[in-house]
Amino acid sequence: MVKITLDRITKKFGNFTALDNITLEIEDKEFMALLGPSGSGKSTLLYTIAGIYKPTTGRIYFDGRDVTEVPPKDRNVGLVFQNWALYPHMKVFKNIAFPLELKKAPREEIEKKVKEVAKMLHIDHLLDRYPWQLSGGQQQRVAIARALVKEPDVLLLDEPLSNLDALLRLEVRAELKRLQKELGITAVYVTHDQAEALAMADRIAIIREGKILQVGEPDEVYYKPMYKFVAGFLGSPP
Ligand code: ADP
Ligand code: MG
Repeated sequence: MVKITLDRITKKFGNFTALDNITLEIEDKEFMALLGPSGSGKSTLLYTIAGIYKPTTGRIYFDGRDVTEVPPKDRNVGLVFQNWALYPHMKVFKNIAFPLELKKAPREEIEKKVKEVAKMLHIDHLLDRYPWQLSGGQQQRVAIARALVKEPDVLLLDEPLSNLDALLRLEVRAELKRLQKELGITAVYVTHDQAEALAMADRIAIIREGKILQVGEPDEVYYKPMYKFVAGFLGSPP
């Protein structure tokens, strides 16, 4: 079943075309990586899926329903950014609870859900701390917990691990992948790191200058690159 359909999406900033006629189907519960160099349009595409940007032309469908005009808060998506952006004056509990408080969920439900998601991410012992009292990896787990607490069916991640050191990156990578499968969430994962995309994704969409060059499973794009650029970017064998 198709979860997200992007139908001929174009996004212009003034005269500049950041997304050029993007068509892509993302399956339900799929882990899709958007891979490309800096400036290729990955974040723009992710924010367009989130509803933060409205496409200049083209339509977006969730479960076959046209959501092009639907604001971000009504799209049931969780967002995780590169810079984490935790609220510095709120303890971890409150940071994670925030999306539920916005929805005016009952106190007991908030308590239960925050503890549940914190446990899944192994941060349940940190709920009483402030963000500055956490390591980078712990902060990123809080950001992921906050994105998951509303039980979104789509999780959108923009280079979420790029501020972590190499070892932690591997650890959170594995964790994230496990959770995504366990919870049955559709994930769209932006990265410029080919190793990360190859290791994590069910399929990879390779983006350059606002266009999708190739979409396929990791093995397929790696061993059968359709363009020199793709081969070079992935480091495919000659
Ligand atoms: P990536 O995430 O792949 O690094 P982006 O999606 O952030 O790339 O940006 C793609 C292109 O669109 C870049 O050239 C960038 O400068 C431009 N761009 C992104 N956002 C805006 C904006 N709000 N206004 C004008 N140009 C933008
Ligand atoms: Mg970006």
